[in-house]
Amino acid sequence: MNDEFKTLQKFDAGNEREGFFHSLPELERQGIGRISRLPISIRIVLESVLRNCDGKKVRGKDVETLARWDAKKPANEEIPFVVARIVLQDFTGVPLVVDLAAMRTAVKCLGGDPKIIEPLVPVDLVVDHSVQVDFFGSAQALRLNLEMEFKRNRERYQFLKWGQQAFKTFQLIPPGIGIVHQVNLEYLAKGVLSQKSEVGGQRSEIFYPDTLVGTDSHTTMINGLGVVGWGVGGIEAEAGMLGQPVYFLTPEVVGVHLRGRLKEGVTATDLVLHITQMLRAQKVVGKFVEFYGEGAASLPVPDRATIGNMSPEYGATIGYFPVDQESVNYLRATGRSDEQCAAFENYFRAQKMFGMPRKGEIDYSVDLELDLGQVQPGVAGPKRPQDRINLPELGQTFRSLLQKPVKDGGYGIENVDLGAKHPVQLNGSAPQDDEMASTDNRNQGIEPGDERNKVEMVANRPTPDTAREFKTSTADPFRHGRSEIGHGSVLIAAITSCTNTSNPSVMLAAGLLAKKAVERGMRVDPAVKTSLAPGSRVVSDYLTKTGLQPYLDQLGFNLVGYGCTTCIGNSGPLHPKIEKAIHDYDLVAASVLSGNRNFEARVHQNIKANFLRSPPLVVAFALAGRVDLDLTKEPIGKDKDGKETFLRDLWPSLKEVRDAMQSALTPEVFRRLYRDFANQNPKWNEIPSSTGDIYQWDEKSDYIHEPPFFKDFSMEVGEIENIVGARALGIFGDSVTTDHISPAGAIKASSPAGQYLMSRGIMPEDFNSYGSRRGNDLVMTRGTFANVRIKNLMVPGTEGGVTKYYGPATGPAASTSGDQMSIYDAAMKYQKDNVPLVILAGHEYGTGSSRDWAAKGTRLLGVKAVIAASFERIHRSNLVGMGVLPLQFPEGTNAQTLNLDGSEVFSITGLSDSIEPGKTVTLEIERKNGGRDSVPVRLRIDTPIEIDYYRHGGILQFVLRQLLASK
Ligand code: SF4
Repeated sequence: MNDEFKTLQKFDAGNEREGFFHSLPELERQGIGRISRLPISIRIVLESVLRNCDGKKVRGKDVETLARWDAKKPANEEIPFVVARIVLQDFTGVPLVVDLAAMRTAVKCLGGDPKIIEPLVPVDLVVDHSVQVDFFGSAQALRLNLEMEFKRNRERYQFLKWGQQAFKTFQLIPPGIGIVHQVNLEYLAKGVLSQKSEVGGQRSEIFYPDTLVGTDSHTTMINGLGVVGWGVGGIEAEAGMLGQPVYFLTPEVVGVHLRGRLKEGVTATDLVLHITQMLRAQKVVGKFVEFYGEGAASLPVPDRATIGNMSPEYGATIGYFPVDQESVNYLRATGRSDEQCAAFENYFRAQKMFGMPRKGEIDYSVDLELDLGQVQPGVAGPKRPQDRINLPELGQTFRSLLQKPVKDGGYGIENVDLGAKHPVQLNGSAPQDDEMASTDNRNQGIEPGDERNKVEMVANRPTPDTAREFKTSTADPFRHGRSEIGHGSVLIAAITSCTNTSNPSVMLAAGLLAKKAVERGMRVDPAVKTSLAPGSRVVSDYLTKTGLQPYLDQLGFNLVGYGCTTCIGNSGPLHPKIEKAIHDYDLVAASVLSGNRNFEARVHQNIKANFLRSPPLVVAFALAGRVDLDLTKEPIGKDKDGKETFLRDLWPSLKEVRDAMQSALTPEVFRRLYRDFANQNPKWNEIPSSTGDIYQWDEKSDYIHEPPFFKDFSMEVGEIENIVGARALGIFGDSVTTDHISPAGAIKASSPAGQYLMSRGIMPEDFNSYGSRRGNDLVMTRGTFANVRIKNLMVPGTEGGVTKYYGPATGPAASTSGDQMSIYDAAMKYQKDNVPLVILAGHEYGTGSSRDWAAKGTRLLGVKAVIAASFERIHRSNLVGMGVLPLQFPEGTNAQTLNLDGSEVFSITGLSDSIEPGKTVTLEIERKNGGRDSVPVRLRIDTPIEIDYYRHGGILQFVLRQLLASK
C-alpha cells in the first residue's frame, strides 16, 4: 500500500469494523495546503491522488500541487485521477468491449498472454440504450418492445455474454432492469469502497471514496449522492479500465450557494432547467460546480441527482453535492446495508468532509447565489436545453420562433397560418394489415377494440418495421381515431430519462395529475405518441402500489420499457399518416419529454420542436395536445361534462405528492428488485454465449467486427510530422454535435451505411440504429458525418453527409470545381490517393453526448486534424485519444472569415519541431487562385500525456505498448 506522505490512519468504520484511510486532515497537519478550505469535490480527487501516489503514474508533486489548489488561480497542471470504478451503457460499452477483445487478439498475435488485457477496476455495464418505443398505449407494449429489442440486438447481446465470462472484473446488468445512471444511484454506488491490503505487516481494510467515470455524459448524476464522477469518451474509459489515470486539467470550482426553498408547484425539473440556463450564462464549461448551503441541504438526494445529471447541459464537468445526513439516509432508504451506510458516514466524518458546508467555509473560484424560492415552473427548448421558457410564455415564444429566420434560431416559416389544422384519419382500409391484426388479436383472445390493448383494429399501412412486427406480435403499434394536426401539435409525449424518472416526487406528480384528469373524463388525442419508460423497476413498484399506474395507462402512458427510449432518440416510428402530414404541410410539430437533450433530430427525425419539462407537465401537454398556448391561463381541455379544465385543476399539491411517497418507498423493494438480474429476465438466459479468452470474430456478423485499430501494430513509435497537402472533408458552422458527427439514431437506406447493409442482404426494416451497430466499424465509419441535419458549408443549401471531392492537392486529378458526393465516398477516394483530410468548424465543436465513434469515425475516414473555433471537452480529448489533432482558430477567426469554400489545399506546419501542449502552429492555406495565407492556430493537445497519446497514434496503442513492455 502506497503511503508516501505517511497519512494512513485508523478509523472506526462502524459495525465493529476497524479500517484505514488516507487522511486528508493529516496532510494538512503536515503543512501541505489548506485542505479544510478546499471544495469537497477537489478533496475527493486529492484523496485518490494521495492514495495512488507511487512516484510513477502519480507523483508526490501531483499531491502537493492539488493540495495547494488556489481557488482564484488553479495551477495549469494535469491531475492523474485513478477512479474506483467504471460504468458503461451498452451503446458505448459494446465498442469498448470490442476494443478490449481486439487488444486481446493483437496481444495473442504478438505472442503474448491475452489475459494481460483485463479491467483493473470494477466495470459495470447496464444494457439500457437499445429499447425502442415501437409499441405504446397498450398493456402489451412492454413485452412487445422487449421482444423487438432482443430480436434486433441478439448478436450484440451474445457478444456481451462472451465478455461477461472472459473478463473477471466485468458485471453486466441485462436489458429490462433500468437506466445506467438510475441503477448507479439506486444500486451500484456504494459511497465508500474498501480493499484488503497489508498495513504494517497486518491484513487490513483500506477505505476510500467511491469515484468513477462512465461512458455516458450523464454519469454526472451520481454527484447528487456525493460521489465524484463524470462522463468520458469510451477511449479514456478504456484506458481507465487498463489502469491508466484519467487526466484532466486542474479545474476552477464554481460554488453555488443555494438558499431558501422551492415554492409549491415548482418541481425539481423546473429547478434543473433554471440552473442549466443560469450556469450556461456563467460559462462553467470545463469547471467543477459545487452546490452548498442550507438550500442544498433541504434538497433530497433525487433532486440533487437531477441537478447533477444535467451538468453536461450547463457545461460543467460535474455538479457536485457534498455528503451529508441526507446522503446517508438515501443509501439506507434504497436498501443498502447498515454496514455500508455506517462506513459511508464514518469515513466522511473521519475525513472532516461530512455535512453540507455553509457560506464562507470553503474557498471557491467563483461564488454564485441562487434563491430556490425564485424558481418558476418552465420548460426548455425547442432546440437547446439551456433555452428556458417560463410556462406562461411558451405559446408566445413558440409562435414567434415559427416565423423567426433560421439564422436567428427560428423555423423561418413565412406567411404562416398559425391556426391551420390538417385532418388525419388514423384508421383506414389496408385490408392486408387489418387481417394481420385481427388474426393476431384472436391468437391472444383479444378482440379488435378490446380495452386491454387500448387500440382498436389496425387500420393503416404500417411502416416496414411495424409491418414485420405484425407477423409475430399481437398488437397494433399505433393509436386510432380522427385528429387534426398543425404547427405546435404535440405528437410525442414521453415520460423518459434518468434525469427525472429517478425522482419519485415528479413521477408521482405525473401519476396524480393523470388520476385527476381521468377522473374528469379527459383523454389524450390519438395523434400523440405517449410513453412511460422509467429508469428502474422501483418506479413501477411505487406507481402500482399507489394505484396511479392505471390512470397513466388510461391516458396512454403505459409502460413501454425500462431504458432510455425517447431520451436517446429511440422514440420509434410515428403513424405513417402523421409522418406524411408533417412532410406534406412542412409542419413544425412538437415533442414534450422529461429528458435532458433536445437537439434537432435527436428525439425524432421529423419533430422539429422539442421541449424538456417535468413528467407532470408532459402529461399535461399530452392532454392539451399542443404547445402554442399558455397553460397558466388557457384551458387544458374539457372534462366529460364539457367544462373547461385548467392546469391548476389537475396539479397535485406538495402534500399529495409527499403522502404518496411515504406510502410507496421502502428499502425492501430496492433489495428485492436489485438482485439476481439474469434470472429476472428469461429472455437473457435464452441467449447463447461463446466462451474462451479470445473472441472468435465472425465475418458474417454485421453487429460485431474486429476494428482495424491494431492492424500492422508494432512496438515502434513513429515521429510526429507536419500535415501537408490536405483537403477539407467538411466545413461546418457552430454547435456541431457528436450526434451530427456520429448519429445514434436511424440509418437511412440511401446513406452509405444503409447501402452497405443492403449489400450485405440486410433490409431497411432490420437496419436497427447506428447506436446499436457501434460494434461494427464498417457501419460506423460510413455513418460518420451522416446525420440528416448536418450542414456542410462546402455544399451550400444541402443537408446530410455530402461534400465536394477535389482530388489530390496537385497533379492532373486535382480539381478546382469539385464533385458532389457522400462524405464517406469522398474520404475513401482521398484515402486511396493518400491525401490527408481536415475538418473546419465553428464554436462548440463536438458538443452533446460523449460518443467515441465521433472520434473513431473521424480517424477512420482519414481525417488528420480538426480545426475549430472551440471544442467540447470530451470530444476534444477523444480526438487526441484517436490520434486526430485538435487545433483552435484564434478568437474571431473561422472558415467564413477566411473565405474558405473547401477548394483549398491545407498544410499544418510546426508539428515536426518539438511540440508541447497549447503550442501555436501554422495553418497554411493555398487557394485555387494561387493565393496563400498563414493562420496561427493553437494546438489543443492540452496535457503532456496527450502528446504521448498522439505520438503513439492514439491512447489504445499507447496503453497496449505499455502493457506489452511491462510483461
Ligand atoms: S435516459 Fe437519457 S440521459 Fe439517461 S442514460 Fe439514457 S440517454 Fe443518457
